[in-house]
Amino acid sequence: MASTTQVTIVGSSNVDITALMNRLPGPGETVLADSYRLTPGGKGANQALAAALAGARTEFIGAVGNDPHAEIALGQLAEAGVALDRVKHIEGATGVAIISVDAKAENSIAVISGANSSMEAAAVTAAGALEGVLVLQGEIPESGIRAAIDAATGPIVLNLAPVIDLDRDYLCRANPLVVNEHEAALILAQLEGSKELSTDPEPVIAQRLCDEGIASVVITLGGEGALVAVRGTDGAAEITTLPAVKVTAVDTTGAGDAFTGALAARLAAGETLIEAAGFAGRFAALTVQEHGAQASYPRSLNNL
Ligand code: ADP
Repeated sequence: MASTTQVTIVGSSNVDITALMNRLPGPGETVLADSYRLTPGGKGANQALAAALAGARTEFIGAVGNDPHAEIALGQLAEAGVALDRVKHIEGATGVAIISVDAKAENSIAVISGANSSMEAAAVTAAGALEGVLVLQGEIPESGIRAAIDAATGPIVLNLAPVIDLDRDYLCRANPLVVNEHEAALILAQLEGSKELSTDPEPVIAQRLCDEGIASVVITLGGEGALVAVRGTDGAAEITTLPAVKVTAVDTTGAGDAFTGALAARLAAGETLIEAAGFAGRFAALTVQEHGAQASYPRSLNNL
């Protein structure tokens, strides 16, 4: 590679099959959807695109199958100049996500891992050194996440979504941990060995995550914005709330990924966590005003 990578993302890439409908079906129910789209997605790929569009030299490391979905899964990344040399092409299916979006922009998502499940420790270790800010999610096997953390050479942005079991030692390498409210409560329960989900307000949950040994936490709060907690030397977390930009949301699919990728890009550019989270919130607010995940990410940084 000609220039140094600033953000490396090890994670999933999928094809999203998105159906638009008036309301989401309940268990055992069929609803008629209005239309559907076939678009690139997967948290890893989404975040890689967001990081690149937010200005970082970005590499994506993941796996796709040998089916026609592979080209769709990687198309936007290639166009945005994301380095893809270390993406594995395996025999089998590319990952697929089946996404339902209702008239109120709420969504429900089922993911079929496909090639993403081949991102075990051996595959990640074989990729070699991971440069710059490393970004990880919960859509590849846990052994692959651990191997990536072991191979990190810079800060680790851990977006543990979906929440999977990860040893405390690995969880505590996150700086920051980036999660939504629900994921934050799940991870806290995991760290505290509790079966109950905390109903504490988010600043308290963030403080308790820091008490468990995580150096910094960003909790995204949808239309309410985000909260940043940084553990001080005395153990107390300094909490900053970042209100969301007021916009009309039509589809929040991929907003969290846009936030995480943009945050990583700004951390790689040398911003503080609070500055980077502020930018990420403005970047993500643009994405909720358009349909789709990657398609909604801003191609220009004017007005940010
Ligand atoms: P996730 O999809 O992972 O649960 P969130 O829904 O918390 O993520 O959204 C991530 C970020 O996207 C938020 O922190 C916020 O900055 C931005 N965002 C999401 N929904 C809206 C909205 N309705 N208006 C403005 N910004 C939003």
